[in-house]
Formats: sequence, structure tokens, C-alpha cells
Amino acid sequence: MLDSRFFSYQNGELNCEGAGLEALAERYGTPLFVMSRNALKNQYAAFEDAFSGLDHFTCYSVKANFNIHVIEALAEEGAGCDVNSGGELFRALKAGVDPRKIIMAGVGKSESDIEYALSSDILMLKAESLSELRHIDTVAGRLGVVARVGVRINPNVTAETHPYITTGDSKEKFGIDEASFEEMFRLLGSLKHLRLVCLDMHIGSQIFDTGFFHAATEKLLDVLEATRSAGFAIEFLDIGGGFPVTYDPQDPATPIGDFAERLKPMLETTGLTIIFEPGRFLAANSGLLLTRVQYRKRNHIGKEFLIVDAGMTELIRPALYQSHHEILPVRERDTTMIADVVGPVCESGDFFARARTVGAVNEGEYMAILSAGAYGAVMSNNYNGRLRPAEVMVDQGQDRLIRRRDTYDQLIQNEVDL
Ligand SMILES: *Cc1c(COP(=O)(O)O)cnc(C)c1O
Repeated sequence: MLDSRFFSYQNGELNCEGAGLEALAERYGTPLFVMSRNALKNQYAAFEDAFSGLDHFTCYSVKANFNIHVIEALAEEGAGCDVNSGGELFRALKAGVDPRKIIMAGVGKSESDIEYALSSDILMLKAESLSELRHIDTVAGRLGVVARVGVRINPNVTAETHPYITTGDSKEKFGIDEASFEEMFRLLGSLKHLRLVCLDMHIGSQIFDTGFFHAATEKLLDVLEATRSAGFAIEFLDIGGGFPVTYDPQDPATPIGDFAERLKPMLETTGLTIIFEPGRFLAANSGLLLTRVQYRKRNHIGKEFLIVDAGMTELIRPALYQSHHEILPVRERDTTMIADVVGPVCESGDFFARARTVGAVNEGEYMAILSAGAYGAVMSNNYNGRLRPAEVMVDQGQDRLIRRRDTYDQLIQNEVDL
């Protein structure tokens, strides 16, 4: 959805914080991701405001948008980082984030991920299985350190969201389930190179119903009691991310304040520092994807296609999750048309919208695909020999390139010479 404080029409042209998008498209080429630095900061402030008064610490889930400039913008406001791999840890450190504000998740951490995390002295690693606890203990022993660990609990709550982004159900691969807690406590008691500091969960993404968070947090509080009874004094309780955003104005997201209102009273009783891991909430509506209309085509049944120069290689969400993204013409239009907005990739799934009413645009004009700041650029790829796009960040009218477009040479740079 368009956040009109940061993206709006001025004199008939869509702009980001005062920078005209047509000029940006012409200067940097398309497809082009455009991020608003102040939208990011504003979302972070809104999150912090909602949970103010609660002893907490917010770790931006960098997988939503891992550009080091995006991480840096949020870190500057005080955010820590939740990373999922050695590669994301590398990015967070490059962005200047204090290692003691970085936590690492991930259901399949490799030995090198664990080694990198421990030797960087990050705040904690969150383990997702008993085998992983043993593995972290072994690596910590070898490095001569005591690893601070959290354990990710699978609360067995099925959040109603897209099945690919629900993660707190016992059918899914994530976390440690109730049946293993006794064994987990025994194991934690026996491992010499670990210190349990946190209980953690993450039930999924784009969760509209505060009830799921409530139910899962209740379970987490039960586990907290069991953990304390087993003699472990922990410092943190991590309730994960998943806070929703509005993609379709017809389907507005539950306000963050509602989540805070429901969760604060429960969390306050713990006396622990609460960790949150919002990703999408901070980044999604802070960015859009600019694309150029390459061709207009009408078929024999009168169906109209707008073939644009961005595709599923830049923004895979519609193809992967059937997700809705608003699409606006960069030049404001009085008339509309009904069209399928599709990309150039050789897949029928390569579409942004089907039978959508959009501004009537001509070939050569630009369109903006909204809410593309999260899970967009990070999932971009080179399928079909596509060049991953450039990214720009705007700060009060000043635009700055934050990622160069791939080049042909980069496409084969890791291939061994013929
Ligand atoms: C993906 C993920 C997040 C962020 O989810 P959002 O829906 O983007 O807020 C947070 N924590 C973990 C462990 C994740 O895997």
C-alpha cells in the first residue's frame, strides 16, 4: 500500500520523499527498487512506540531486506539484527551493527555459520534441535568459549497465513516441540560450553490475528515456567516477527498497537527483556519496484497484457504466494484499463496482477509496484539470464544508489573459464 507520507503524487508524478520516480527510472534504469529511508525509520519508530514501556530490544530480521544500507538505516535508530546465516551475519557486521546486538536463527546452521557467530561474539545463537545444541557445544568447546544460546520452541500454533509462511505448527520443520523439553533440559544441564539465555519462537509471517500471538505466547510462558523449575535462569524471551502490513487497501493489516496491547501485559509479568524480530513490518511498505511498460498486447479474446521489464526474478511474491501488490502508473492517469501485468520471464507464473484495473499506460511509461521493500530484492535471482536490479535509497529528496545493477560479466564471474 502507498504510505502517503513518503510516496505520493506531486504535480501528477509519483514521488518518493520528494524525488520524482520518472527521473529516478531514467537516471538509474529499470527495474529499480526505491527505498524511502524515512519510511523505514518511521516504521521502526511506530514499532518502538507501540511497545514503549516494555523492557525490550528490537532485532530487525534482515532477511526481509538485507541491503547493508537498509540495515544501517535501522541500526542507526537503535535496532539490532536477527540473521539467518553466516552471509546475513556478514552483512550485518558490514553495516556496522554491534555484534552484541545480533542474534542468529536458522533451522540448519552449518558448522561454519556457528563458528562465525561464536567467533564474532554475537549476543546469541538460537538452536532449533537437540542435535544443534550438541553441535554448538562442540564448536564452542573447540573455540574455548561459552556459547550463549536461545532455544526455539515450536508452540504448535497454526497461524492463519499463507501455508508457506506459517512456522509455528508442529508439522513444520521449525523449533523444538513439547515432547522433547525434558530431554532438552537434561542435555542443557550436561553441556559445558553452552549457557541458556533465551526462549524463542517465531510463528510465521504476515499474521493478522493477535489471537495467534496470544496463544503462542501463552505456550512460551508455560515453557518459561518449566525452564525456571528446571533451574535455568534466563534473560530474554524472544517472540519473533510476523507483524503484518497492508498490501491491499481492501484488506488492511491489524495495527501494531493492537498486538502491543494484547501482548504487553503478558510479557511484562516475565521480568525478562523481550526480543522482537520484525522484518516485513519495517521494510515492506518502505519500498517499491519501478518498472517500464515494454509492450501492450491484446489477444483474440480481448484480453490485454502489460508486459513490463520487471518479473518474478525481481519480485517473486505474486508467483510464490499469490500475493497482492498495488500497481500505480508513475504519471497519474484519469483513465483506467483492465490488464494482466506480467514480466518477461518464460514462466506462466511470472505475473504481478491478473485482470487488474490499472491506470491506462502506454508503452515506454513507468509503473510502480508497491509494497516491494520486503522479500523483494532479497529473493531476486538471475534466472533467464536476468540481471539483478539496481536499488536506490531516498532520504528527503536526495537519492543514492545503494546497489548497482548486475552486469553480464557478473553473470559468469564464478564460472570457470572455458
Ligand atoms: C522471517 C523471520 C522473521 C521476520 O518475519 P517477518 O514476517 O518479516 O516479520 C523473524 N524471525 C525469524 C526467525 C524469521 O525466520
